[in-house]
Amino acid sequence: MGEDGTTSDEQRTARRAMIATQIEARGVGDPGVLAAIERVPRELFVPEVVRELAYEDRALVIDAEQTISQPYIVAYMTSALGVEPGHKVLEIGTGSGYQAAILSELTQRLYTIERIATLSEAASARLRLLGIEDVRYRVGDGSLGWPEEAPFDRIIATAAAPAVPQPLLDQLSVGGRIVIPVGNTERQTLLSITKHSDRTVERPLIPCRFVKFIGEAAWR
Ligand code: SAH
Repeated sequence: MGEDGTTSDEQRTARRAMIATQIEARGVGDPGVLAAIERVPRELFVPEVVRELAYEDRALVIDAEQTISQPYIVAYMTSALGVEPGHKVLEIGTGSGYQAAILSELTQRLYTIERIATLSEAASARLRLLGIEDVRYRVGDGSLGWPEEAPFDRIIATAAAPAVPQPLLDQLSVGGRIVIPVGNTERQTLLSITKHSDRTVERPLIPCRFVKFIGEAAWR
């Protein structure tokens, strides 16, 4: 990775191979999602010491004992979220900023919250390096959502909660959708929840394992 956010041919090739073998081969074929993943240099989002593992089929540890999710999970969740141009999207758990970079390829109205200030700052610096300027960052407890900016068309949580935080459901527009891992601290199920005018419909997707969603309306 060059200082200016450029990416080498080798990394581009690794990224294409990752998309073919880890993502498309497992059934995520959404062209918009695949194109977004192809445009974002994942090696920029992982610590220097594990840079050669950036395109491996696994999650990696970033700073502050947090993780950047496995590429397939990022692709799967992004596809499940079903972002359409113009959608106002809230991400909980900015982390490295990788998922935010992918989402910013799909909408210009992205809001992302991280509880650890150093992670939020590093993520926003990375995205700016890539020329991604339109994302709004907040440091705080994402289990309470971002009330001043609600409602959101889509909400994605990249940390695991014991149950869907009520403030997030409240801040979802009618017809909106939340994708969130829910379970105990060891294992969770990725849920897709759609809000209708009279009820919410919850659909279990796949088993998964995320770091803890720590907050007033999550793990305390
Ligand atoms: N989306 C990230 C993955 C980050 S891991 C990426 O692409 O790299 C999950 C992140 O959620 C961690 O950085 C953790 O600090 C953050 N997190 C946990 N609880 C949170 C909360 N209540 N509000 C905001 N962020 C939270």
